[in-house]
Amino acid sequence: MNEALLNDLRTYHDLLKERVQLENELKEMPRTLEILETQMLAREKKNHADIRQEYDKIEENLRMLRQSFTEAEMAREKAEHQMDGITNQREYEAVSKEIKEAQQKEDEYRKRIQEQERIFAEVADRLNRVEKSIEDLERQIAEKRAEINEKSAEKLAQIQAIATEEEEIANRIGADIKFRLERIIKHKPGEGIVPLRGAVCMGCHMILPASFVNQVRSTEDISFCPYCSRIIYYEQSEEDTIFEDIVAGALSDLVMEGEESEGVESEEGEDFGNGVSGRKSSKKRRKVTQEKIDFDLIEDDYEN
Ligand SMILES: [Zn+2]
Repeated sequence: MNEALLNDLRTYHDLLKERVQLENELKEMPRTLEILETQMLAREKKNHADIRQEYDKIEENLRMLRQSFTEAEMAREKAEHQMDGITNQREYEAVSKEIKEAQQKEDEYRKRIQEQERIFAEVADRLNRVEKSIEDLERQIAEKRAEINEKSAEKLAQIQAIATEEEEIANRIGADIKFRLERIIKHKPGEGIVPLRGAVCMGCHMILPASFVNQVRSTEDISFCPYCSRIIYYEQSEEDTIFEDIVAGALSDLVMEGEESEGVESEEGEDFGNGVSGRKSSKKRRKVTQEKIDFDLIEDDYEN
């Protein structure tokens, strides 16, 4: 592939990647709001409703207990008045019994009222805390919503700016390539433009057919890996020798062994055995230089 086209593709790839990332962030942002609203706030509201129900029940209980207490109190007072008008022992005993029973009831209700009041205070405290928590959450949600609106506007502006930059390059690389590259970036992890080293695609690490490898090495056009669909370009490397050997029909067993191990990914190339190591060291130096040049080219491309 020619260098200008590859640089265009790389620039486009990076812009696209940034845009896709921004679009994903934009999509993700309302999710935190959704969690706050539909999970946390909804749970607190349900909690509040339950506590409120308990609160109302105890309040009603207390009202009834206080009424019963007042009735017992009145019964006792009435009996105490009766005490003034008694004329014999039998009446005295009957009224005394009434007073005693009313007092017992009073004591019993007083005890229950105190107990219920203690529980009521606890429930009122819980209710209060939940109400505060709901207030906090509602404030957080409002703040988050404002923040999301602000950040969304920022991200949309960034996306728009990138899209404008993209358009300029898209005119050069064409709609079809743009569409394919966008699909790769959205659906494949890692880089969308990968080198071919030896006969191996550095995107999916599959060994590609020799005829395809030759085509990638010689064509000026864009090639796509038949396995992972990533854009693939030829990069000179020490594995080239191995590839050429395969094509020549030699050393094939040795290479297969190397491919199975991490040899293809390794920059050292040590897995390829002693037989080729001497030749490798000079190749390796050349490769390092090559990478440096490529890197500089990309830098220039960004600056211009
Ligand atoms: Zn591939």
